[in-house]
Amino acid sequence: NLPEIASPTRTRAIMETYGLTFKKSLGQNFLTDINVLKKIVAAAEVSEADDVIEIGPGIGALTEQLAKSAHQVLALEIDDRLLPVLKETLAPYPNVEVIHQDILKANLKELIAEHFDGQHRLKIVANLPYYITTPIIMHLLATELAFDQIVVMMQKEVANRLAAQPGSKDYGSLSIGVQYEMDCQVAFIVPKTVFVPQPKVDSAIISLTKKKAKEYQPQDERFFHQLVRGAFMHRRKSLWNNLQGLYGKQAEVKEKLSQALAQVEIEPSVRAERLTIADFVRLADCLLATGV
Ligand code: SAM
Repeated sequence: NLPEIASPTRTRAIMETYGLTFKKSLGQNFLTDINVLKKIVAAAEVSEADDVIEIGPGIGALTEQLAKSAHQVLALEIDDRLLPVLKETLAPYPNVEVIHQDILKANLKELIAEHFDGQHRLKIVANLPYYITTPIIMHLLATELAFDQIVVMMQKEVANRLAAQPGSKDYGSLSIGVQYEMDCQVAFIVPKTVFVPQPKVDSAIISLTKKKAKEYQPQDERFFHQLVRGAFMHRRKSLWNNLQGLYGKQAEVKEKLSQALAQVEIEPSVRAERLTIADFVRLADCLLATGV
């Protein structure tokens, strides 16, 4: 009857038995608070109806809690030192599979087809390696797959950017990229003291839920995303200046920009941070029509 993996005594024992050190370069800050882990699983509403992908299981603290609730868990770990450890710590859970994979290189579509039966909801639950939080989120969103829910821990500051609303200083292309497809909520804040080693900043659990119906339908998604990124290129500059940065300063381009802005009733002097996603969709469609 071993204590849970995440308990501070068991974590210490596992690290010592295997002679493991924490790799800072891989964002290894392990959770040692069972209550926080249980809250993460609860926030993701993990049940027998769910197949879960975990990114970066570490020594298996969160994996164990997921295994107790989910149908199947597939965990992707980049650090090969941890594979034999996980094999032992997760041995009591036949519904867990751990593979040696870099999440950013993983073909999730193939992995899902290989490891899951397609009869369950698909969720991602993880305590993310912080050095690649944004690339991971972008990688997950770029996968055509429908994840019903993504519940992940990240730096509080990045979580705030993801969930930010127009007009706030944290609102930007990352907020729009995520909220375009998913409803986004900061579930709760986690103090840095519950990790070993302690990171420099506090963390937050963010919950992204796939929108029930497509809320935004730009005519050309790539054009829309390009516009958003370009509009926030220089945050302190006006939309007008950023649009010229994106499309050019020639007289005929300016004419098309003015025309599109007038049509959607957006002041050229505003900053991008004032615009809602719906504003950007309308502007993108209008600009596209001008052939800018
Ligand atoms: N899940 C454990 C926990 O909550 O205690 C560990 C979380 S730790 C913040 C991040 C984990 O991600 C580490 O185990 C690290 O080795 C792993 N990791 C780092 N980069 C990765 C990558 N590119 N692909 C997969 N796993 C990665």
